Amino acid sequence: MALSVILLFVLAKAGRGSPGAENESYDLVIANGRVMDPESGLDGVRSVGIRGGKVVAVSQEPLAGKATIDAKGLVVAPGFIDLHEHGQEPRNYQFQAHDGVTTSLELEVGTHDVDRWYAAREGKALINFGVSIGHIPVRIKVLHDPGPWLPTGDAAHRPATPEELAEMIAMMERGFRRGALAEGMGVNYTAAATHAEIVEMFRVAAKYHASVHVHLRYAGIKEPTTGLAALEEVVAAAATTGAPLHVVHITSMGLKYTPDLIAMVEGAQRHGLDVTTECYPYTAGSTALQSAIFDPGWQEAQGITYKDLQWAETGERLTAETFEKYRKQGGIVVIHSIPEEAARTAVANPIVMIASDGLMITGAKVHPRGQGTFSRVLGHYVREEKALDLMTALRKMTLMPAQRLEKRAPAFQNKGRIRVGADADITVFDADRVIDKATYDDPLQYSEGIQFVLVNGVPVVKDGQLVEGLFPGRAARAPISQ
Ligand SMILES: [Zn+2]
Repeated sequence: MALSVILLFVLAKAGRGSPGAENESYDLVIANGRVMDPESGLDGVRSVGIRGGKVVAVSQEPLAGKATIDAKGLVVAPGFIDLHEHGQEPRNYQFQAHDGVTTSLELEVGTHDVDRWYAAREGKALINFGVSIGHIPVRIKVLHDPGPWLPTGDAAHRPATPEELAEMIAMMERGFRRGALAEGMGVNYTAAATHAEIVEMFRVAAKYHASVHVHLRYAGIKEPTTGLAALEEVVAAAATTGAPLHVVHITSMGLKYTPDLIAMVEGAQRHGLDVTTECYPYTAGSTALQSAIFDPGWQEAQGITYKDLQWAETGERLTAETFEKYRKQGGIVVIHSIPEEAARTAVANPIVMIASDGLMITGAKVHPRGQGTFSRVLGHYVREEKALDLMTALRKMTLMPAQRLEKRAPAFQNKGRIRVGADADITVFDADRVIDKATYDDPLQYSEGIQFVLVNGVPVVKDGQLVEGLFPGRAARAPISQ
């Protein structure tokens, strides 16, 4: 053993590119920052050397590079990975970069055409991007629902025929063969999908080692249609098919019973099931008013009424009259339904990942979560509220989402970490200053205190300012098998 180590050392010294830190030239060095890596537990002042889009040195000694970022007094963390962002447009990526996100993934709704989705963003993206094959869009396609994003016709309200089910399974399989990162599902939006159809969809995911990212069949507090009852359905589907389960936005599903839902996820994990979950740090949800979520019975189910709904175009609170008018018209509402205690419990819990559920920017008063989620956790919940420590928060937004996907997409083994060999997706922020600025009244505001953001080694945020005209984002995609 010792001999081979010496031999390797001699060979390395003799060859070009010595691994010794001192004389190496790097494309970029992040000097003297407080490097925090949730995988190794490293929390200390280091310099990070980057070459060819990868981290190639993490050193206690100074490093020389063609360019240097002085990170003295700043935290140097793996770039944040957002498992749940519907807004996959250039403007969304700008807001996300300012919030520290280096990989933005649309895994809940997803797409029915994986190739087309990736092709539309290849070479044009500020940050990394990825998608799931989605049961919702596949059902919209096969049942000829007018959609376009969430079902409003047959895909919401009619069971599938055996032929349609077979067609859906074939489309899901094709999506996986084309490198979909996961399977998306939103049973609440496809309410007529039978339990048998849901189990079939889990069976397909299991075959491709894909996690199923589910918006549960019910959100709410009224028996027998509680979030907990809905969680039972998919935990059983996961247990009996072997597919990994990821429950999206657990707070808007559980409302005041969120702690019970989290306890069920913890229990599933303790008993050996691959079940995970995520939350956003807000007391409101948001979705399309014309969707099945607002079919009759929504008030009792969610314990809310018209005034708790806010029209995203104008910010006005709804009445019985405007509810009917806007539901016919179609558009996004913000739903003030989540108790602060539920949001806080989920954000603070070490097993609950952070994901934004950000939306396309369709109005002046869209939900702020797509713009501020990650800075809000770091600034409000870590620094101001002391609801959790900084390393735990970083783990929930970097390492854990990477681990969620790496069984299906091994490329994620090199994301969510700062170590030699990792992708140079790095977020450098001021822990004393980082904060979300996006609010319900004024949601289109960049977060503050995120000072430098690197995507594959390329700075897209410098000194807190967006760098224009760069597209270093790459497809985050599972291997293509055909
Ligand atoms: Zn959802």
